[in-house]
Amino acid sequence: MIPMASGLILKNVLLACWLALALTSENIRPAAAVPLPLAGYGAAWFRRWGRNAALALSTAALAALFVWPITLWACQHPLWHRPEGWNYLSLPVDLLLLDLWIYWWHRANHRLPPLWRFHEVHHRDQFLDASTALRFHMGEVAISACVRALVIMALAIPLWTLLVFETLVSAAAIFHHANWRLSPSLENRLARLIITPGLHWVHHHARQADTDSTYGTIFSFWDRLFGSSSRMRRAPLMPIGVAGEKDASLWALFALPFRRIR
Ligand SMILES: [Zn+2]
Repeated sequence: MIPMASGLILKNVLLACWLALALTSENIRPAAAVPLPLAGYGAAWFRRWGRNAALALSTAALAALFVWPITLWACQHPLWHRPEGWNYLSLPVDLLLLDLWIYWWHRANHRLPPLWRFHEVHHRDQFLDASTALRFHMGEVAISACVRALVIMALAIPLWTLLVFETLVSAAAIFHHANWRLSPSLENRLARLIITPGLHWVHHHARQADTDSTYGTIFSFWDRLFGSSSRMRRAPLMPIGVAGEKDASLWALFALPFRRIR
């Protein structure tokens, strides 16, 4: 058995490599051109990258100080105990259940105004690339960690399963936010099972009906099962963001959940 600390390091190294691959390769064969205000490494380009990097660093610090400790505690205090040897056999079912939870949690973040105030920070990005996958308000991450701790305790999820799930969720988020142009046949085949960039970009389309659709994170069949798919297909010039809203300064984004109601 690999010690948990080594597992955590392995997870972080794998995700750092995956993120570096996405960030360096998505401009080689992009699906969409960077919109004019953000193109050309000008001031707007630097401001966007500064915002996304600062939000990513703030949530990374929160993950180390709060999310991981509360997750560890929840895994160590299940509401019931699984039979010996059951943990490994149940890994695929646990991953499905956790992805189902994250589907409904994402849907709640869009449907409940107090949650949307935090989640809107992620959606205010005016363009999508792998950096958007790391752009979240600390409040959303903290609330999500608390609710997830209850789910972990109720389902008696083992820590190793959680580690595998976190790795898959983060890898999936980097994948479906990336500005990667896949061949239509590959994209269509993948989209039957998992959320692809083409599907997730529709979720970031600055049109309310599309923003409130396509909530899946790893698997795409939850949206078909629960009727939240969109007929919209990604287009290269599709406006990204929140309908009627612009991106904001870093400080305005931090303050956004406390200043206005959707
Ligand atoms: Zn969303």
